[in-house]
Amino acid sequence: MSKPFSVEYAERIKQLPPYLFAAIDAKKAEVQAQGVDVIDLGVGDPDMPTPAHIVESLKIAAEKAENHQYPSYVGMLTYRKAATDWFARRFGVEFDPATEVVSMIGSKEGIAHMPLAFVDPGDYVLVPDPGYPVYAIATTFAGGIPYKMPLKAENGFLPDLEAIPTEIAAKAKLMFINYPNNPTGAVADYDFFAKVVEFAALHNIIVCHDSAYTELAYDGCKPMSFLEVPGAKEVGIEFHSLSKTYNMTGWRIGFAVGNAKIVQGLGKVKTNIDSGAFQAIQEAAITALRSDQQCVLEMCEIYRKRRDMMVEFLKKAGFKLTAPLATFYLWIDNPEGMTSAEISTMFLEKAGVVVTPGSGFGEAGEGYFRISLTVPETRLNEAGERIVKVLKV
Ligand SMILES: *Cc1c(COP(=O)(O)O)cnc(C)c1O
Repeated sequence: MSKPFSVEYAERIKQLPPYLFAAIDAKKAEVQAQGVDVIDLGVGDPDMPTPAHIVESLKIAAEKAENHQYPSYVGMLTYRKAATDWFARRFGVEFDPATEVVSMIGSKEGIAHMPLAFVDPGDYVLVPDPGYPVYAIATTFAGGIPYKMPLKAENGFLPDLEAIPTEIAAKAKLMFINYPNNPTGAVADYDFFAKVVEFAALHNIIVCHDSAYTELAYDGCKPMSFLEVPGAKEVGIEFHSLSKTYNMTGWRIGFAVGNAKIVQGLGKVKTNIDSGAFQAIQEAAITALRSDQQCVLEMCEIYRKRRDMMVEFLKKAGFKLTAPLATFYLWIDNPEGMTSAEISTMFLEKAGVVVTPGSGFGEAGEGYFRISLTVPETRLNEAGERIVKVLKV
């Protein structure tokens, strides 16, 4: 008699926190089953199509047989050159396309692989709280220990570097930051990035700046790259993504630029795990980066209108908030006496509207909920009306 086969997950999987959207999805399905027309303002995934000239470019590139083989791990030189040229035009900083940039299968891929390249078991990694869950999870996958840097309203949702204990800073290998910020919508200024560079140099910590939202900004705001600060290139790497800028989340394409040794460390992980991004997608990405950026401006204008509309509804419902200058998120204080879980449950059950509880992004996110503006105006309008109705009893 053989023992029954048993499937055992590794500790790193068993210890994963519950997936943020899984519980919400389950409750959403329950409400939908009762016949409610649920409006999902939870997930931040652009609803608009990829601009036509980029799709056309993919069609042409997909026909070429040479694109059907394994791509290079680091990306085509033409793609890396398009990325560094775009970077120089946008931020005024030059990088060597041969050594200081690497293609990514979406920036999440690079972010998740950073700890494998630089973190040994027991090392600390500084991560924002609230924050994109990947920073902390990728750290624990590599045996590292995430140290949460709370992002507080009174500090403009920037981490207080002086509050990080010296003994933690001494044991930290990486620091993740993300501006414009998901979920708070905050934008960082030159002074903050300069402090980060100084802190990183002092404690020998590699800065990983997640820049997925630099192009989604409003009212004249032009978010900067942390690599614009002198000395940043010595200590860091910056992750850029075509996902949000060109409505290409499903395409999985991005790039990382920065210190050559850091870029190459990440490249070493990639050579052993994946085989790079489909070349036809890289060719379409070149088209996106090299073409006129009018499509990005038009998209920002759509999000700006949605933002203004939703901010009005929320004010009518009694919330106090200022419109964010970047990202497609609204980060809103809970009503007095309600937890993030309670407010999101209430919106779902009473209004049929999904919002994300702030606590899902970390302990310091408690007290807030997040609204994503990635649904068409008519749906957003309907959601706004329902929210006002529920709160105006
Ligand atoms: C959407 C998002 C990304 C981008 O992910 P891709 O893998 O490039 O699609 C990265 N970081 C944050 C904080 C995001 O919200």
